[in-house]
Amino acid sequence: MADAVAGAGRFAPSPTGPLHIGSLYTALASFLDARAQGLAWRLRFDDLDQPRNDPAAPERILRTLDAHGLHWDGAVQRQSDHLELYEAALTELQQMGMVFFCTCSRQQLQGHSTYPGTCRSRRSPRSDAAVRVRVDAAVCEFADSVQGRQQTRLTDSAGDFVIKRRDGPFAYQLATAVDDGDPGIVRVLRGRDLLDNTPRQLYLMALLNLEAPAYAHIPVLLSPVLEKWSKQTLAPSVDDRKPDANLRTCLALLGLKPPELELQALLEWAVAHWDLRRLGPKDRVFSGF
Ligand code: GLU
Ligand code: ZN
Repeated sequence: MADAVAGAGRFAPSPTGPLHIGSLYTALASFLDARAQGLAWRLRFDDLDQPRNDPAAPERILRTLDAHGLHWDGAVQRQSDHLELYEAALTELQQMGMVFFCTCSRQQLQGHSTYPGTCRSRRSPRSDAAVRVRVDAAVCEFADSVQGRQQTRLTDSAGDFVIKRRDGPFAYQLATAVDDGDPGIVRVLRGRDLLDNTPRQLYLMALLNLEAPAYAHIPVLLSPVLEKWSKQTLAPSVDDRKPDANLRTCLALLGLKPPELELQALLEWAVAHWDLRRLGPKDRVFSGF
């Protein structure tokens, strides 16, 4: 792969269970999008939320991707291997005076749509606290390849947000900002349900002087009761014995109508015909296999 030159896209599942139709659809879209731009495609397990991890999931996910011809480049990454990077980022933010230690209980925060600022002056580390980063009223602006131009004021949408949880783990926002801020990652394609995290991640990347990737937030697959297909909504896991049918289902949901082809040729056809503009911003309903 020419990824040293062109950079990479990435797929970053949380290893909480096997891939379901919604995650296969996102994996395929991210793969096609990277390949269509001549980028490498990396795989990263977002495994910081220990209690939610399923120890069997990583193997299972690798097998499913493999069975569907979705071959990743380079070594599989795990966020749990990057703790030193996150710690360094946290220290940097702390040295900039941007973090504080928050001991607010859930109850104290109830009814507030954004963080009320209660602990802003708590600058000394303490182990019974969450770490929050201060935000300002500047407008965060970015162009999303699917959802169009986005504008948010973090003071209105999130407020000072958590970057390390009170129970220990680094928060999704910090870990993802550090990993996606790697100069090798130039493209992030993920579900539209994650769109409102992006301003927070861009904010952290800017503070940490990291280079932001380009973003594409694609429509989400909904179940017939219009919930996002997920582990919680009991999405059926993907059957690895039917990769062709699964890929065809996902390609149709992505707006592509491929001719009859074998798996490898099918993927090549899809790379050649990949066009984000075909997708449109609206979520899609998938009723089941
Ligand atoms: N690990 C996250 C998830 O599976 C995705 C994170 C991302 O793509 O930024 O929902
Ligand atoms: Zn607080």
